[in-house]
Amino acid sequence: MKPAPFDYLPAGSAEEAVDALARHRDDAKVLAGGQSLVPMLNMRLSRPAVLVDINEAAELDYLRAVDGALAVGALVRQRTLERWAATAAPLIAEALRWAGHTAIRNRGTVAGSIAHADPASELGAVLLCLDGAVVARGSGGERTIAAGDLYLAPLTTALRPDELLTEVRFSLPGPGVGWGFAEVARRHGDFALVGAAALLWRDGDGRVAGARLAFFGVGGTPARGAAAEVTLTGQTPTPALIAEAARAAAARLSPDSDLHATAEYRRRVAAVLAERTLTMALERRGETA
Ligand SMILES: Cc1cc2nc3c(=O)[nH]c(=O)nc-3n(C[C@H](O)[C@H](O)[C@H](O)COP(=O)(O)OP(=O)(O)OC[C@H]3O[C@@H](n4cnc5c(N)ncnc54)[C@H](O)[C@@H]3O)c2cc1C
Repeated sequence: MKPAPFDYLPAGSAEEAVDALARHRDDAKVLAGGQSLVPMLNMRLSRPAVLVDINEAAELDYLRAVDGALAVGALVRQRTLERWAATAAPLIAEALRWAGHTAIRNRGTVAGSIAHADPASELGAVLLCLDGAVVARGSGGERTIAAGDLYLAPLTTALRPDELLTEVRFSLPGPGVGWGFAEVARRHGDFALVGAAALLWRDGDGRVAGARLAFFGVGGTPARGAAAEVTLTGQTPTPALIAEAARAAAARLSPDSDLHATAEYRRRVAAVLAERTLTMALERRGETA
């Protein structure tokens, strides 16, 4: 199929893009890497009257690490971040390695993946796990939206129709924070059936000083495994405790059944991946997360 007709508006700057969005609001869509939007246009699942192409807005193409946080401009491709993160932020690099194929990541942007809000997106869960946020710019000004407030439903975020997502912010864990990432997909590059990302750090006595767990593919939005974090914090981490924490987090998920997997299968796999990623994080303590 071919897309329904649309007007094409190239924006040379963030300001031009925001102006165009303010004028056309619900009738407009931002075009970034096009790796999700173009298939949706072709299948006529999305029929915007206007496409606002931000690919010439060079000011949005930046990666900056400042004071333990990483700021990723809206034009940064996933592959660029993957390369940058290989040593500086291995959790992000590992998650990206699983996100589609290299050709898709060469074109797809980090911000586009976050804005698209596919519940099976690796990056959405990593943003939650790393306590990240996004910066949204609209005609009324700029605001920061915490990852926990961003995702509302499948393919739906708190971004308003007139807002451009200009920056994705990840916090970068300090030394001594271990990380884990795992997903189950039918083939490498397919969307995940279920996945998990974890961080864990310990105090001087070897007890868990903090842990973070996030799931993807287990409901309409990425989900934080808060029950596991509470179970582990302040305790000496043993394999039995990690398994208990993983089960507690998975029990609170509300996955859906679809033609790929049943809800029960997803919940069981979520428990296994939570246990696996928390164990990885424990064992990796001392490496950069
Ligand atoms: C074969 C295949 C396999 C894939 N596998 C995976 C996978 O395993 N995991 C995964 O997470 N994704 C996967 N994807 C999806 C895809 O890689 C991402 O969703 C995509 O990269 C999104 O970024 P983009 O820059 O291409 O966004 P686009 O396709 O240009 O836009 C996506 C949506 O986000 C909006 N948007 C984009 N940028 C902004 C912005 N700055 N501000 C506001 N709104 C914006 C657009 O309007 C649109 O609604 C796959 C895609 C394909 C084709």
